[in-house]
Amino acid sequence: MHLPDVGFTPELREQFEQYEQEDVVAARIGAEHRGSYVAMTESGDVTATVTGRMRHDALGRDELPAVGDWIALQIVGPDQGQVRAILPRRSSLVRKVAGLESEGQVIAANVDLVMVAAGLDDRPNLRRIERYLTVAWDSGALPVVVLTKADLCDDVDDAIHEVEAIAPGAEVMAVSNTTGTGIEAIAARIGPGTTAAILGPSGVGKSSLINALMGSEVMTVQEVRWDGKGRHTTTHRELIVLPNGGCLIDTPGMRELQLWDSDGLGSTFSDISDLAEQCRFRDCTHTHEPGCAVVAATEDGTLGAGRLASYRKQERELDAMARRKDKRLALEARKKWKQMGKEGKARARIR
Ligand code: GDP
Ligand code: ZN
Repeated sequence: MHLPDVGFTPELREQFEQYEQEDVVAARIGAEHRGSYVAMTESGDVTATVTGRMRHDALGRDELPAVGDWIALQIVGPDQGQVRAILPRRSSLVRKVAGLESEGQVIAANVDLVMVAAGLDDRPNLRRIERYLTVAWDSGALPVVVLTKADLCDDVDDAIHEVEAIAPGAEVMAVSNTTGTGIEAIAARIGPGTTAAILGPSGVGKSSLINALMGSEVMTVQEVRWDGKGRHTTTHRELIVLPNGGCLIDTPGMRELQLWDSDGLGSTFSDISDLAEQCRFRDCTHTHEPGCAVVAATEDGTLGAGRLASYRKQERELDAMARRKDKRLALEARKKWKQMGKEGKARARIR
């Protein structure tokens, strides 16, 4: 495997240099399962683990390796390695950790393109596409909306236009995984060195799209690996290398996403942010204020009421998430001070 083809840029090479040693190589995380990782290296896959120290020092889950991460990997045995460092991420898809109130988890790192998939077997669910777009913009990668099952739709152009209207700044493409229409155009966006991730609810044709891009049934193929403890483990690759060298990430965690950070909101709804700049009051809530450009746009029909409602709903959710994060940070800070207080008292006693 040629590392630049799978996204190892000159910047990453430079960042890697400080770790370079005879037994330390650059690698990309291809999958994660039960605390160990599949690390892809120039000379093949290695089972990688994280040292107890790295796990202990990590302040949050986002400081542990994630699929798509570039790492400095120390080779410790045949096909065995230990993660020495995670190289800085240029983008990351983050989701809320299931169960915990306000911890984020990186589910895909160093992604260039996020494909938001929706099926044309039904009218596109615009509100759902907007949610995925917020997550996509927030990652730092460029979103593309991929409308699948074009073969089941009578007026594909109409559907594309409808989605384009709610996806400012994002390209909207239609494909059929069945007939192959549009697959080439998507493959062309994921050239060597590019990493794409695919988001979307179950059943929209994500696995079929991956198979179509691969030209084979990769999604049903399972690899058998040796885990070093005398057991065979069956692993499912989450980062797939396309025939031309581009990469595609599909992790189970990306299929259902909850909004996490509000950085993406303004991009998803850039039409509303642009209007808001013309409101008479800077702190306009776009509800009852005189001279509100947003309300005016809904009245003259240039802004759909559904889209404004969708914006408000996402904004409310993100506000609530921000409050929970603040609360958690405050709790963590208090815990730290308490701990330092105890240590201080212990030191005082020794003296
Ligand atoms: P996933 O859950 O998003 O991975 O969706 P799958 O790839 O498993 O596809 C769900 C169903 O939709 C399967 O029955 C596929 O055969 C079907 N499907 C996927 N893509 C297309 C398409 O482009 N056209 C048609 N007609 N069916 C499709
Ligand atoms: Zn306003």
